[in-house]
Amino acid sequence: MHVKILKYMTGRPPEVFASDRSPSLIAATQKRMPLTLKIYCLHHLDGNVQQNLRPVLDPLWDPFKIDFWGVYNATSPTAFDAGWTALTKKYPSAKAYLVRELYPCRENWAVAWLGFKFTCALGGPKVTATQLFHALNERTQAQTAKEQELVRQSSHRQHDTNLERLFVEPLALLRKHACPYALQTCHREMGLSVYYGVDVIQLPSRVRNWCMRDDFTNDNRFIAADWLMELVHKQALQIKRILRVSHMSTKTTHIMVQFTDGAYFCDCCMGSNLGLPCLHFFAALTRVQGMGFYITHIRTR
Ligand SMILES: [Zn+2]
Repeated sequence: MHVKILKYMTGRPPEVFASDRSPSLIAATQKRMPLTLKIYCLHHLDGNVQQNLRPVLDPLWDPFKIDFWGVYNATSPTAFDAGWTALTKKYPSAKAYLVRELYPCRENWAVAWLGFKFTCALGGPKVTATQLFHALNERTQAQTAKEQELVRQSSHRQHDTNLERLFVEPLALLRKHACPYALQTCHREMGLSVYYGVDVIQLPSRVRNWCMRDDFTNDNRFIAADWLMELVHKQALQIKRILRVSHMSTKTTHIMVQFTDGAYFCDCCMGSNLGLPCLHFFAALTRVQGMGFYITHIRTR
Protein backbone atom coordinates (compact mmCIF):
# COMPACT_ATOMS: atom_id res chain seq x y z
CA MET A 1 0.00 0.00 0.00
CA HIS A 2 2.67 2.54 1.06
CA VAL A 3 4.83 1.52 -1.86
CA LYS A 4 1.92 2.32 -4.20
CA ILE A 5 1.54 5.76 -2.63
CA LEU A 6 5.23 6.46 -3.28
CA LYS A 7 4.62 5.80 -6.97
CA TYR A 8 2.24 8.74 -7.19
CA MET A 9 4.37 11.20 -5.21
CA THR A 10 5.43 14.13 -7.35
CA GLY A 11 7.50 17.25 -6.87
CA ARG A 12 10.64 17.70 -4.82
CA PRO A 13 11.61 14.59 -2.84
CA PRO A 14 11.42 15.04 0.94
CA GLU A 15 14.60 15.73 2.95
CA VAL A 16 13.81 12.91 5.33
CA PHE A 17 11.62 9.82 5.10
CA ALA A 18 10.69 7.82 8.19
CA SER A 19 9.47 4.27 7.72
CA ASP A 20 9.08 0.98 9.48
CA ARG A 21 11.76 -1.46 8.33
CA SER A 22 9.58 -2.97 5.61
CA PRO A 23 11.98 -4.33 2.92
CA SER A 24 9.66 -3.39 0.03
CA LEU A 25 9.33 0.17 1.29
CA ILE A 26 13.09 0.47 1.80
CA ALA A 27 13.69 -0.74 -1.76
CA ALA A 28 11.06 1.62 -3.18
CA THR A 29 12.37 4.70 -1.35
CA GLN A 30 15.92 3.87 -2.39
CA LYS A 31 14.78 3.81 -6.02
CA ARG A 32 12.44 6.81 -6.01
CA MET A 33 14.26 9.14 -3.61
CA PRO A 34 17.92 8.10 -3.48
CA LEU A 35 19.12 11.36 -1.93
CA THR A 36 16.50 11.49 0.82
CA LEU A 37 17.67 10.64 4.33
CA LYS A 38 15.94 7.41 5.36
CA ILE A 39 15.33 6.89 9.02
CA TYR A 40 13.47 4.20 10.91
CA CYS A 41 10.44 5.12 12.92
CA LEU A 42 11.24 4.72 16.61
CA HIS A 43 7.65 3.83 17.38
CA HIS A 44 7.97 0.75 15.14
CA LEU A 45 11.50 0.06 16.35
CA ASP A 46 10.30 0.09 19.94
CA GLY A 47 7.37 -2.18 19.04
CA ASN A 48 9.59 -4.64 17.16
CA VAL A 49 12.13 -4.81 19.96
CA GLN A 50 9.37 -5.41 22.48
CA GLN A 51 7.67 -8.06 20.35
CA ASN A 52 10.88 -10.00 19.68
CA LEU A 53 12.81 -9.59 22.90
CA ARG A 54 10.34 -9.27 25.74
CA PRO A 55 9.42 -13.00 25.64
CA VAL A 56 13.06 -14.11 25.67
CA LEU A 57 14.27 -11.55 28.21
CA ASP A 58 11.56 -11.58 30.84
CA PRO A 59 12.19 -10.84 33.78
CA LEU A 60 15.16 -8.75 32.52
CA TRP A 61 12.97 -6.78 30.12
CA ASP A 62 12.77 -3.57 32.18
CA PRO A 63 16.53 -3.19 32.82
CA PHE A 64 17.18 -4.15 29.19
CA LYS A 65 14.92 -1.36 27.96
CA ILE A 66 16.86 1.20 29.99
CA ASP A 67 20.19 -0.13 28.71
CA PHE A 68 18.95 -0.31 25.10
CA TRP A 69 17.81 3.33 25.03
CA GLY A 70 21.07 4.29 26.70
CA VAL A 71 22.98 2.78 23.77
CA TYR A 72 20.53 4.41 21.35
CA ASN A 73 21.54 7.80 22.81
CA ALA A 74 25.31 7.08 22.57
CA THR A 75 27.11 10.28 21.64
CA SER A 76 29.42 8.86 18.95
CA PRO A 77 29.83 5.72 16.80
CA THR A 78 32.68 4.63 19.06
CA ALA A 79 30.53 5.02 22.18
CA PHE A 80 27.66 3.24 20.40
CA ASP A 81 29.86 0.23 19.54
CA ALA A 82 31.19 0.03 23.10
CA GLY A 83 27.66 0.19 24.50
CA TRP A 84 26.37 -2.33 21.96
CA THR A 85 29.09 -4.84 22.85
CA ALA A 86 28.27 -4.47 26.54
CA LEU A 87 24.54 -4.82 25.80
CA THR A 88 24.89 -8.05 23.83
CA LYS A 89 27.21 -9.44 26.49
CA LYS A 90 24.85 -8.56 29.33
CA TYR A 91 21.77 -9.96 27.55
CA PRO A 92 23.01 -13.00 25.56
CA SER A 93 19.49 -14.23 24.79
CA ALA A 94 18.83 -10.98 22.90
CA LYS A 95 22.10 -11.00 21.01
CA ALA A 96 20.99 -12.89 17.88
CA TYR A 97 18.08 -10.52 17.18
CA LEU A 98 20.08 -7.38 17.97
CA VAL A 99 23.02 -8.35 15.80
CA ARG A 100 20.93 -9.64 12.90
CA GLU A 101 18.16 -7.03 12.79
CA LEU A 102 19.28 -3.79 14.38
CA TYR A 103 23.04 -3.44 14.21
CA PRO A 104 23.34 -3.46 10.39
CA CYS A 105 20.89 -0.55 10.07
CA ARG A 106 22.14 1.42 13.12
CA GLU A 107 22.89 4.49 10.99
CA ASN A 108 19.16 4.76 10.25
CA TRP A 109 18.00 4.94 13.85
CA ALA A 110 20.76 5.66 16.39
CA VAL A 111 21.51 9.16 17.66
CA ALA A 112 25.25 8.92 16.97
CA TRP A 113 24.42 9.06 13.24
CA LEU A 114 21.13 10.97 13.20
CA GLY A 115 21.60 13.50 16.01
CA PHE A 116 23.37 15.98 13.77
CA LYS A 117 21.08 15.52 10.77
CA PHE A 118 17.84 17.36 10.08
CA THR A 119 15.00 14.96 10.82
CA CYS A 120 12.44 17.39 12.33
CA ALA A 121 13.42 15.73 15.64
CA LEU A 122 12.05 12.36 14.50
CA GLY A 123 15.53 10.85 14.61
CA GLY A 124 17.12 12.91 17.33
CA PRO A 125 18.13 12.39 20.91
CA LYS A 126 15.42 10.85 23.06
CA VAL A 127 15.72 9.34 26.49
CA THR A 128 12.83 6.94 26.01
CA ALA A 129 10.26 6.02 23.45
CA THR A 130 7.81 8.08 25.48
CA GLN A 131 9.83 11.15 24.65
CA LEU A 132 9.47 10.29 21.00
CA PHE A 133 5.70 10.28 21.35
CA HIS A 134 5.87 13.61 23.15
CA ALA A 135 7.99 15.01 20.34
CA LEU A 136 5.50 13.79 17.77
CA ASN A 137 2.59 15.20 19.76
CA GLU A 138 4.40 18.47 20.16
CA ARG A 139 4.75 18.75 16.42
CA THR A 140 1.10 17.91 15.87
CA GLN A 141 -0.07 20.30 18.54
CA ALA A 142 2.03 22.98 16.91
CA GLN A 143 -0.56 23.14 14.19
CA THR A 144 -3.45 23.70 16.51
CA ALA A 145 -5.45 26.85 16.89
CA LYS A 146 -4.59 26.88 20.60
CA GLU A 147 -0.92 27.39 19.88
CA GLN A 148 -1.60 30.06 17.34
CA GLU A 149 -3.61 31.84 19.99
CA LEU A 150 -0.65 31.60 22.42
CA VAL A 151 1.63 33.10 19.81
CA ARG A 152 -0.86 35.88 19.17
CA GLN A 153 -1.05 36.59 22.89
CA SER A 154 2.73 36.60 23.23
CA SER A 155 2.84 39.11 20.41
CA HIS A 156 0.37 41.34 22.24
CA ARG A 157 2.52 41.28 25.37
CA GLN A 158 5.64 42.12 23.44
CA HIS A 159 6.32 45.56 24.86
CA ASP A 160 6.19 44.28 28.43
CA THR A 161 8.82 41.60 28.27
CA ASN A 162 12.57 41.65 28.53
CA LEU A 163 12.80 39.03 25.83
CA GLU A 164 11.31 41.43 23.34
CA ARG A 165 14.03 43.94 24.14
CA LEU A 166 16.81 41.34 24.07
CA PHE A 167 15.77 39.71 20.81
CA VAL A 168 14.25 42.54 18.79
CA GLU A 169 15.59 41.54 15.38
CA PRO A 170 15.25 37.74 15.67
CA LEU A 171 11.64 38.06 16.85
CA ALA A 172 10.81 40.49 14.06
CA LEU A 173 12.26 38.06 11.50
CA LEU A 174 10.48 35.09 13.06
CA ARG A 175 7.12 36.89 13.15
CA LYS A 176 7.52 37.83 9.52
CA HIS A 177 8.79 34.58 8.05
CA ALA A 178 8.41 31.61 10.42
CA CYS A 179 5.50 29.35 11.24
CA PRO A 180 3.80 29.55 14.67
CA TYR A 181 5.59 26.41 15.86
CA ALA A 182 9.03 27.86 15.04
CA LEU A 183 8.14 31.18 16.65
CA GLN A 184 6.84 29.62 19.83
CA THR A 185 9.78 27.20 20.13
CA CYS A 186 12.31 29.98 19.62
CA HIS A 187 10.46 32.17 22.12
CA ARG A 188 10.68 29.38 24.70
CA GLU A 189 14.41 28.85 24.01
CA MET A 190 15.05 32.60 24.27
CA GLY A 191 13.39 32.59 27.68
CA LEU A 192 15.59 29.73 28.91
CA SER A 193 18.77 31.23 27.44
CA VAL A 194 18.96 34.03 30.02
CA TYR A 195 20.07 31.53 32.67
CA TYR A 196 23.25 30.66 30.74
CA GLY A 197 26.70 32.19 30.58
CA VAL A 198 28.97 32.00 27.53
CA ASP A 199 32.70 32.11 27.11
CA VAL A 200 34.89 31.77 24.05
CA ILE A 201 37.30 28.86 24.23
CA GLN A 202 40.78 29.92 23.22
CA LEU A 203 42.87 27.64 21.05
CA PRO A 204 46.10 26.99 23.00
CA SER A 205 49.07 28.65 21.31
CA ARG A 206 50.81 25.43 20.25
CA VAL A 207 47.61 23.74 19.06
CA ARG A 208 46.86 24.53 15.43
CA ASN A 209 43.77 22.43 14.85
CA TRP A 210 40.58 22.15 16.86
CA CYS A 211 40.55 18.39 16.13
CA MET A 212 43.56 18.08 18.39
CA ARG A 213 41.54 19.08 21.47
CA ASP A 214 39.75 16.48 23.51
CA ASP A 215 39.20 18.19 26.81
CA PHE A 216 35.62 19.40 26.43
CA THR A 217 33.53 18.26 29.33
CA ASN A 218 29.77 18.01 29.28
CA ASP A 219 27.47 15.54 30.95
CA ASN A 220 24.39 16.34 28.92
CA ARG A 221 25.44 16.69 25.34
CA PHE A 222 24.13 14.43 22.62
CA ILE A 223 27.21 14.27 20.45
CA ALA A 224 30.75 13.65 21.66
CA ALA A 225 33.22 16.47 21.09
CA ASP A 226 35.67 14.25 19.21
CA TRP A 227 32.89 12.99 16.90
CA LEU A 228 31.67 16.56 16.39
CA MET A 229 35.17 17.69 15.42
CA GLU A 230 35.57 14.74 13.08
CA LEU A 231 32.33 15.67 11.30
CA VAL A 232 33.44 19.29 11.02
CA HIS A 233 36.79 18.19 9.66
CA LYS A 234 35.23 15.78 7.13
CA GLN A 235 33.02 18.50 5.71
CA ALA A 236 35.93 20.95 5.53
CA LEU A 237 33.97 23.56 7.50
CA GLN A 238 35.87 26.64 8.62
CA ILE A 239 35.59 27.24 12.35
CA LYS A 240 35.40 30.86 13.46
CA ARG A 241 35.34 30.10 17.17
CA ILE A 242 34.20 27.63 19.75
CA LEU A 243 31.97 28.67 22.64
CA ARG A 244 31.26 27.10 25.98
CA VAL A 245 27.67 27.70 27.14
CA SER A 246 27.06 26.92 30.80
CA HIS A 247 24.00 27.05 33.02
CA MET A 248 24.70 29.59 35.77
CA SER A 249 23.32 27.37 38.52
CA THR A 250 23.68 23.71 37.49
CA LYS A 251 26.90 24.34 35.50
CA THR A 252 25.59 22.04 32.76
CA THR A 253 27.78 22.82 29.78
CA HIS A 254 27.36 22.66 26.03
CA ILE A 255 29.90 23.28 23.31
CA MET A 256 28.92 25.30 20.27
CA VAL A 257 30.96 25.74 17.11
CA GLN A 258 30.47 28.91 15.08
CA PHE A 259 31.51 28.71 11.44
CA THR A 260 32.86 31.50 9.25
CA ASP A 261 29.74 31.42 7.04
CA GLY A 262 27.41 32.31 9.95
CA ALA A 263 26.21 28.77 10.58
CA TYR A 264 26.70 27.09 13.94
CA PHE A 265 26.55 23.66 15.50
CA CYS A 266 25.64 23.01 19.12
CA ASP A 267 26.34 19.65 20.72
CA CYS A 268 22.76 19.51 22.05
CA CYS A 269 21.88 18.84 18.38
CA MET A 270 18.60 20.77 18.47
CA GLY A 271 19.59 23.17 15.70
CA SER A 272 20.75 20.43 13.37
CA ASN A 273 18.11 17.85 14.26
CA LEU A 274 14.96 19.91 14.81
CA GLY A 275 16.04 22.74 12.53
CA LEU A 276 15.36 25.44 15.13
CA PRO A 277 17.94 27.33 17.22
CA CYS A 278 18.53 26.08 20.76
CA LEU A 279 18.67 28.13 23.94
CA HIS A 280 22.50 27.86 23.85
CA PHE A 281 22.51 29.66 20.52
CA PHE A 282 20.26 32.41 21.89
CA ALA A 283 22.50 32.70 24.97
CA ALA A 284 25.50 33.21 22.69
CA LEU A 285 23.57 35.63 20.50
CA THR A 286 23.09 38.06 23.39
CA ARG A 287 26.56 37.69 24.88
CA VAL A 288 29.07 37.24 22.07
CA GLN A 289 29.84 39.90 19.50
CA GLY A 290 29.71 38.76 15.92
CA MET A 291 26.97 36.20 16.45
CA GLY A 292 24.07 36.74 14.07
CA PHE A 293 20.56 35.37 13.73
CA TYR A 294 19.54 34.53 10.17
CA ILE A 295 16.23 33.19 8.98
CA THR A 296 18.20 30.35 7.41
CA HIS A 297 18.70 29.06 10.97
CA ILE A 298 15.04 28.04 10.73
CA ARG A 299 14.85 25.00 8.47
CA THR A 300 11.83 24.79 6.20
CA ARG A 301 9.49 21.93 7.04
ZN1 LIG B 1 22.32 23.76 22.04
